[in-house]
Amino acid sequence: MNTKSELFFLDLEETIIHSFSDPVLCNVQRIRSFLKKAGATEVHIFSYAIHDDFDRETFNKHIKPTVELALGVKVMSCVTVPEMVKADYEYTGVKFEKGHEVSEFIQLRGKKDGFINYVLARCGKFTRAVLIDDIVPDLTVTHRKKGWSIELWNVNSI
Ligand SMILES: [Mg+2]
Repeated sequence: MNTKSELFFLDLEETIIHSFSDPVLCNVQRIRSFLKKAGATEVHIFSYAIHDDFDRETFNKHIKPTVELALGVKVMSCVTVPEMVKADYEYTGVKFEKGHEVSEFIQLRGKKDGFINYVLARCGKFTRAVLIDDIVPDLTVTHRKKGWSIELWNVNSI
């Protein structure tokens, strides 16, 4: 990923759009002001709705421009669930059942652990990684010696 030390991630469904098939924006004001207050100019998408490259292309083509305009930030990347599964495997060594990796990963990890493992596997020397999502608990995980923290923010409480 990039070398910025503060990273901001957004979920899609029920966070910034209603659903992938009905991508009407939602929660724009609260997310926009959260990002502004945090000084974020770039975000990444971390959504279990992006199952493959086709979904990512659909997002990039049809949804990303609207999201960037509404939030006033650049969307730098959008990870697919298979890429999350790969990152999770490299970090934890846990192999999900072949052919069912995506559904098992989503069920077993949930959003909280899926995100934490992804950040630890892929984000290098970050100091702060933030996820805004509609199903996560309001939680911060801090490594006291290394000095990083991973923050989960429920979109309904920001
Ligand atoms: Mg969601």
